Amino acid sequence: MDEAQAVIVGGGVAGASIAYHLTDLGWADVVLAERSDLTSGSTFHSAGLVGQLRSSVSLTRMMMYSVELYRRLQAETGVDPGWHEVGSLRLASSGERIEELQRLAGWGRTFGLPLEVVSTEEALDRFPLFDPRDVQGAAYLPTDGYVDPSGLTMALAEGARRRGCRILTGARATGMDVRDGRVRGVSFEGRDPIRTDVVVDAGGIFANQLGRMAGVEVPVVPFAHQYLLTEPVDGVHTGLPTLRDPDRLVYFRAEAGGGLVAGGYERSPAPWAWDEKGPPAGFNNELLPADWPRFEPLAEGCFGVIPAMQSAGVVRMINGPEAFTPDGEFILGESDVGGFFVAAGFCAHGIAGAGGVGKVMAEWIARGRPELDVWKMDLRRFGRHYRSRTYARDRACEVYATYYDIHYPGEERRAGRPLKMAPTYARLAGLGAEFGEKAGWERPNWFRTNEDERFEELRPRGWAGRHWSTAIPAEHLATRERAGLFDETSFAKIEVTGPDACQFLQRICANDVDVSSGRVVYTQLLNDRGGIECDLTATRLDPERYLLITGTAFGPHDLAWIRGEARPEDDVDVRDVTSSLACVALWGPRARDILSSTTQADVSNQGFLYMSQRDVVVGDVPCLALRVTYVGELGWELYPPTEFALRLWDVLVEAGRPFGLVPAGYRAIDSLRLEKGYRAWGADITPEETPLEAGLGFAVDMDKGEFTGRDALRRGADGPGKRLSCLVLADPRSVALGNEPVFAEGEVVGRVTSGGVGYTVGKSIAFAYLPTHLASAGRSLAVEVFGERVDAEVTPDPLYDPRGERIRS
Ligand SMILES: Cc1cc2nc3c(=O)[nH]c(=O)nc-3n(C[C@H](O)[C@H](O)[C@H](O)COP(=O)(O)OP(=O)(O)OC[C@H]3O[C@@H](n4cnc5c(N)ncnc54)[C@H](O)[C@@H]3O)c2cc1C
Repeated sequence: MDEAQAVIVGGGVAGASIAYHLTDLGWADVVLAERSDLTSGSTFHSAGLVGQLRSSVSLTRMMMYSVELYRRLQAETGVDPGWHEVGSLRLASSGERIEELQRLAGWGRTFGLPLEVVSTEEALDRFPLFDPRDVQGAAYLPTDGYVDPSGLTMALAEGARRRGCRILTGARATGMDVRDGRVRGVSFEGRDPIRTDVVVDAGGIFANQLGRMAGVEVPVVPFAHQYLLTEPVDGVHTGLPTLRDPDRLVYFRAEAGGGLVAGGYERSPAPWAWDEKGPPAGFNNELLPADWPRFEPLAEGCFGVIPAMQSAGVVRMINGPEAFTPDGEFILGESDVGGFFVAAGFCAHGIAGAGGVGKVMAEWIARGRPELDVWKMDLRRFGRHYRSRTYARDRACEVYATYYDIHYPGEERRAGRPLKMAPTYARLAGLGAEFGEKAGWERPNWFRTNEDERFEELRPRGWAGRHWSTAIPAEHLATRERAGLFDETSFAKIEVTGPDACQFLQRICANDVDVSSGRVVYTQLLNDRGGIECDLTATRLDPERYLLITGTAFGPHDLAWIRGEARPEDDVDVRDVTSSLACVALWGPRARDILSSTTQADVSNQGFLYMSQRDVVVGDVPCLALRVTYVGELGWELYPPTEFALRLWDVLVEAGRPFGLVPAGYRAIDSLRLEKGYRAWGADITPEETPLEAGLGFAVDMDKGEFTGRDALRRGADGPGKRLSCLVLADPRSVALGNEPVFAEGEVVGRVTSGGVGYTVGKSIAFAYLPTHLASAGRSLAVEVFGERVDAEVTPDPLYDPRGERIRS
């Protein structure tokens, strides 16, 4: 039987790039299998624009790498990818759009993206055809451009072929051989199967069908995406930058013959062949019929931007299907089936992303994980609910229809809600909960009943004040002064059981978890570079049973990470028990008074120690109680079996009445945790930072014996090069929201990881990694908030209760 180190299924730009990069890492025995010809899927009808600016640092870095690669491909492979580095302009037709561009420019500066905001006149000098009437300025990125999608794919394939990759066309994959949770091979129509331990699903709009052959759900949704090609327009030449007008939902580039390519993201998107059956098997080298009525609003947008287009005839309308995802981010990485990787769902950015996608995927396959933190693109971010095709479609529709909108911080998605609800949902709604959504869960952001006009003067300036309520400071202060009650049922809960549970967790956790039953340990789980993969509490329930609690959105990720670390000889069972336990957190100085009035258990400071767990009965409700906090106050997280949750909530609300208890939401938690210096995974701490850099050295036990990441930490033990620092902005109503650049003497020295207002300390707080020499308290810096430099100072961390007296009281 034929064998290969890896089989990549799908000969579009993504598959070719993965083959290129995998062979570049020394994997010579790679097969690229395409059922028709190379570039016969979405790649062949792409408009080819390459814009680097995207929603996350990692994705933008991937795009920046793509550009570097496209510049050098011809010299290396002899095949011209048709790269035109003409730059790009993004117009702003409103004050808010200018603010957005300024924010993006500041952000781009933190990792070397040469994006600048230019005047309308400067933009016109570069692209004299647009109508300047409503335009207030533009963002200019000189290193953007466009590429010939087929040329690019052929150049990448040629690079791979030269290093030994076998390229099979007419090779339709028809089945995956999966045994014992691992992929073992691929079968094809009319040709021998190939035995392999690595398969990459790079099937574009067919990625879901291919995934299902291995029992893997890949929630891509094909959408019909259109652009048109015009006859020559006066003044158009191939040196023009690409042009986007997000307020009119359209994009443009010049064509070789002097015509324009013009497309966009319409408000009424058209999902196509999105149901269980998926796209028809014979759909290759094909387009969909032009849909003129759907393009009409975009055509109007085009004429508004470039009036000369009105008199230019249309040569052709291209309507091609493209794989979108329910959250607008790529889908990359290894699935729950060992060795079965996915690279799909490029949301009309697959040409721009292909270079970076190939590099990330090759590292993932060959080295076990990519260099960049790509959690936002990780296949594992999707929970089980994305198996619903209608849910996936509705979420993807919303992303598509609002693609060019300004997305304000704190904005909530609407599609497919409500889906996952705690048993208290109706009660919380009755209390005026303003729900937000995380990983499908409805969670109260704040309660309208707590709104208090007196706090209006605290409303943050600008964007940060948009999705904001006076209830947030009210709930924050009530928790600090009296008590707050939080429904945290959505927390992800993982149980690790078995004779080897302790030694297994000791091997993968940085802290010492070999503690007596009833102790709670805060720990990180590290990769072998020492980067933080998971951040959670581990509670030893019994000698052979641990309960791990992690963030709402991180359950699938943490579960996959922990399972992935288990060796065949480990006698452990790792199970998601999220649905079996609800969680109600009671925090604040009156928490003990409230709890003790509802239970016979000893909840005194000595009877129930900080960071310990006991089984208690609250009212008539049996709960697992953990004395832990994410807000920096005395209190407990109470975990009853789910069916008791509503009763538990009611009992505590009633008991709390004389003590001034308030129901409180997640936005208050975020403000409380910021001033207490608690880190948020995915923002302040990621797989790219170590606990030492993150100021979490106290949660690492270097003396407990070997654990993953220990060697890397030891190498960096004589002092990390950067350090997560707490900054306070001089203006308390100027709020950094994350990603703003931090300056020292005019130079960018860091980027805000998360920020907000601490209502007890009365300060605008921002966390940022700074070079160690700048990370000392008292150091003066500046943070650029919407183009304005605001003075800031490094302060001792945490700002609130630095000795932790309140949590131990
Ligand atoms: C109209 C339009 C305009 C676009 N404009 C841009 C743009 O300006 N910039 C940009 O960056 N992106 C753009 N895109 C998006 C871009 O084209 C795609 O993201 C990219 O081409 C996707 O590449 P891929 O390799 O994932 O998928 P594809 O190119 O679709 O490749 C997947 C391949 O898998 C093969 N395959 C499927 N099933 C099997 C099987 N069972 N066995 C073997 N092979 C199989 C298919 O035949 C296909 O060739 C646009 C897309 C469209 C539709």
